[in-house]
Amino acid sequence: MRLILFGPPGAGKGTQADFIREKYGVEHISTGDVLREAVKNGTEVGLYAKSFMDKGELVPDEVVTEIIRQKISTLGEAGFMLDGFPRTLEQAKCLEDILTGAGAAIDAVIFLEVPDQEVIQRIIRRQKIEGRQDDTEDLIKNRLRVYKDQTSPLKDFYEGTGVLHAVEGVGEISDIAVRVEGVLKNL
Ligand code: AMP
Repeated sequence: MRLILFGPPGAGKGTQADFIREKYGVEHISTGDVLREAVKNGTEVGLYAKSFMDKGELVPDEVVTEIIRQKISTLGEAGFMLDGFPRTLEQAKCLEDILTGAGAAIDAVIFLEVPDQEVIQRIIRRQKIEGRQDDTEDLIKNRLRVYKDQTSPLKDFYEGTGVLHAVEGVGEISDIAVRVEGVLKNL
């Protein structure tokens, strides 16, 4: 199973990824996690990425697609779900090239739909719980703007390839998981 978890920041992609990993045993690949780890370790990629992440901007396509290329190449036949990637049309096209080269394709894109206001409240809550300094209000707004401008057009792209499944991402986490499961079991 090759999945993409898609939706605005704070949509609950990471939470649903945990459920899916437990149930299906597919690898969870989060570019945000990989980049935060690189920042923490002070690697060259981390130092470069930090300047973009601090502003809520996207890290350049070449950097993130290279991360994904390497991760996917180590997985072999095992399934995966991508969380936070692709975020631009360019990234989506690179992903297609990588998968086509390996004779594979994306089975489903799960689009977690959550209204803006709810997203902002969730991120503020998460900031308080995790003490994440990256989530100031201006930054949250910028991340949402970046999502709208650069990432949300991917909906049309994946709708066009027939793999997009919209799931209402509001309500109890377990109810959302049931909705996601409803999509996955029909694949
Ligand atoms: P996330 O945890 O997925 O919200 O990612 C945190 C930050 O990492 C984002 O705000 C971006 O700066 C950067 N990032 C993560 N994934 C990508 C991506 N696919 N393309 C560009 N930047 C990314």
